[in-house]
Amino acid sequence: MANLAFDDVITAFAYKSDKELKRSKFLYSLMGYPLFVPIATRLTPFLIKTRLPFVKNLMRHTIFKQFVGGETLEQTKVVAGNLGKYNVQVILDYGIEGVEGEANFDKTTQAFINVIEYAATQPNIPFISVKVSAFARHGLLQALNEAPRLRSGIHDHEAQEAEWDKVCERMYSICEAAAKHNIGVLVDAEESWLQDPVDRLTMEMMEEFNTEKPIVYNTIQLYRHDRLNFLQLSHKIAQSRNFILGVKLVRGAYMEKERSRAEQKGYPSLIQPTKEKTDQDYNQALVYCIDNIKHIAMVVATHNEKSNQLVAQLIIEKRLSLDHPHVHFSQLYGMSDNITFILAKSGFSVSKYVPFGSIRDVVPYLMRRAQENSSVSGQTSRELYFINQEVARRKAFQKK
Ligand SMILES: Cc1cc2nc3c(=O)[nH]c(=O)nc-3n(C[C@H](O)[C@H](O)[C@H](O)COP(=O)(O)OP(=O)(O)OC[C@H]3O[C@@H](n4cnc5c(N)ncnc54)[C@H](O)[C@@H]3O)c2cc1C
Repeated sequence: MANLAFDDVITAFAYKSDKELKRSKFLYSLMGYPLFVPIATRLTPFLIKTRLPFVKNLMRHTIFKQFVGGETLEQTKVVAGNLGKYNVQVILDYGIEGVEGEANFDKTTQAFINVIEYAATQPNIPFISVKVSAFARHGLLQALNEAPRLRSGIHDHEAQEAEWDKVCERMYSICEAAAKHNIGVLVDAEESWLQDPVDRLTMEMMEEFNTEKPIVYNTIQLYRHDRLNFLQLSHKIAQSRNFILGVKLVRGAYMEKERSRAEQKGYPSLIQPTKEKTDQDYNQALVYCIDNIKHIAMVVATHNEKSNQLVAQLIIEKRLSLDHPHVHFSQLYGMSDNITFILAKSGFSVSKYVPFGSIRDVVPYLMRRAQENSSVSGQTSRELYFINQEVARRKAFQKK
């Protein structure tokens, strides 16, 4: 094993002041209470709608500060600058979700382009992330997911074709700006019933923009039992069409939603039967990408220590440079600092995925983080374990 010291809490939390560390401790302790997150995730969207100032203020100083980089692009400068001091890079995520209407989709597209242009002026922001559902109607994505004929252009619904053409134009303008400014675009993976058109569009963009270097990356969720295959198929297509395959590998964020929809509608769930099976496919996907690293660029997007160790180990074994341009690690801002900062200190290319946006816009993202940190077995207690260690260490140091 590469044996990275993921328990080095001094390195992990050096970027946090005592006050910030205590806030993290408070928040993770709250999320550890079994009833807190289910109640909070139900109440918060309702409370936000009341527009009562104290709700926003409470969120701003607690969960928002922990997981979000700021309310505006400019505000992310402080977080990015702080991370940069420790050789940690940034993936900027304009955290808008649930947008509706063509005019708003155009606005969101322009906002993504603004983020790219801004990233290009910053020293440590090599990527941005985009969600296709932020500039395409859910109903349209779902219809395309279910109707292969529509995707191939042979169809009988002209309105939908025109609507899809607009989505393609939006995606093209984002990727074109990214290529011009040499910024990577990571396309987020969504629920399986929206994903197929996202995959197809992203592959088309890769074919256009990844001929010399990776600009566009698709996201592959290995909690789906069909995705290891999909990775290999995507690679074959990339080889036959002469472009570099860009992939962000994740386990997947919508497990409960996926399973309950499958049960409700009576179809076999795409989710792996066990966590072990997800881990197995995830790690196999990592090995596959490293074995084909000349033609695949990957972002290792995980908080799993074993998976991160595995990639570090393979890089060393294969004598690749630690900051190989086709291997990048990433963790979400506010989580797993013990992994990010140790990877950075050891010389690997690593970033924090930093969302930004108004409190109202990032509520769905925050609710997912809260749920993840209460439902993923061991994640909260692991975060809290490391935070407690560092709080205790600093206390002991101050007493000396
Ligand atoms: C930088 C970054 C970008 C991300 N982007 C996306 C994205 O675009 N789309 C997306 O969907 N997610 C995304 N995620 C979230 C990701 O998919 C995971 O939800 C999250 O990272 C937890 O998985 P893990 O590998 O970090 O950790 P682990 O704790 O090792 O794994 C937890 C994950 O394992 C899977 N799992 C848990 N229990 C079971 C079970 N019983 N059976 C089968 N599988 C199980 C689930 O996917 C769960 O989230 C991103 C994460 C990161 C760090």
